[in-house]
Amino acid sequence: MTVRLASREGSRRTLSLVLVTALTALSLSAQDSRMNTLGERYVRLVLAMGQHDADYVDAYYGPPEWRKEAEAQKLPLAEITARAAALANDLAAAPPPASADELTRLRHQYLTRQLESLRARASMLSGTRLRFDEESRALYDAVAPTHTAAEFEGVLSALEARLPGPGTLIERYDAFRSGYVIPRDRLDATFNAAIEGCRARTLQHITLAPGESFTVEYVTGKSWSGYNWYQGNYRSLIQVNTDLPIYIDRAIDLACHEGYPGHHVYNVLLEKNLVRDRGWVEFSVYPLFSPQSLIAEGTANFGIDVAFPRAERLEFERRVIFPAAGLNADAATQYYEVLALVERLSYAGNEAARWYLNGEIDARGAADWLEKYGLYSRPRAEQRIRFIDQYRSYVINYNLGKDMVAAHVEARGGTANNPARRWEEFARLISSPRLPSGLANPNSQ
Ligand SMILES: [Zn+2]
Repeated sequence: MTVRLASREGSRRTLSLVLVTALTALSLSAQDSRMNTLGERYVRLVLAMGQHDADYVDAYYGPPEWRKEAEAQKLPLAEITARAAALANDLAAAPPPASADELTRLRHQYLTRQLESLRARASMLSGTRLRFDEESRALYDAVAPTHTAAEFEGVLSALEARLPGPGTLIERYDAFRSGYVIPRDRLDATFNAAIEGCRARTLQHITLAPGESFTVEYVTGKSWSGYNWYQGNYRSLIQVNTDLPIYIDRAIDLACHEGYPGHHVYNVLLEKNLVRDRGWVEFSVYPLFSPQSLIAEGTANFGIDVAFPRAERLEFERRVIFPAAGLNADAATQYYEVLALVERLSYAGNEAARWYLNGEIDARGAADWLEKYGLYSRPRAEQRIRFIDQYRSYVINYNLGKDMVAAHVEARGGTANNPARRWEEFARLISSPRLPSGLANPNSQ
């Protein structure tokens, strides 16, 4: 124990020396230096949490020895909780000076709130049960609005009229969609075409770090449909789950969401602007169950619309994506009209998760609800329940996150009629540490 502590302190001193030397040229202020020390303590706590929760550390590209130390130490949850409380006190005692610029103020607020979410997750892992909304507020700094079945009935009626014939609505919707599956042997070519399109559009508006790139892998046996694993050094590994048929809309959705201008770009910009240019080490770790995820998922989803406004998307689908998948481009318009209706059912998924996690319905009841009001096929509903079991109230980060990000960007002039401004505000958001509660509230507009 003594040896371990001594070596940890030793390496911390060495690292501080390296940091101080490296950053002297930037004339580090006392405040920055204090925040860097607090940031390092936070990174170490996130890594320590990773020893108790395999999903917690979504990305880490800071000093590798910190991770090794976390693995060797395996701090008990009670010790993590105590250290997090001490860090919260020290952070509260180190507010930025009144003269600080916006980014510096955001840094302090962000670290404070991220740490609060870490304490909430540690408490959950120690046995505390939170209700759905309490949990999402504690972990993601946001609460999703509630909806009744009646609110989805109008959309379901419109879909009934749009997809007439025998059988239930979900059966007809499934039959309709079956004509839009990307054949397995066209998957890679279709995704590559989509990635190229998303990247080209993004590069017209956002300067990325040189050498940025990602690789795509096809995997099975996951509760999600796609995942970006950011590796640091401006690289990502993107995994696409092929357990279930992949529909044509997923090409652009996944390429934008996981890649450009979504998760890959978000992580590249954080690494470039905050970690490398400013030396803000706390951004070299990404704890999945934290407010950062609402921003990450919200921008990744809104980024699809930013890169491909509706009319432009349809044109690109018809000209590039449908042909790449060997599908009839003339059928694209009606597909996206139906999907636009189904997208309005997205919040039904939050209701299923809320009731299920609050213990008001069981897994089967939740799958029934997803099928009826969210138009999930049975296998997809079951996959979604596995996702909810694993990630819980994380589900709100996708739809509520998207709506909050959209409202924020639009409130700053980045409307659909002003695409240049839209890109600019979008890029500003994904380059800065902004909390969900610091975004415009979509429900108050
Ligand atoms: Zn995502």
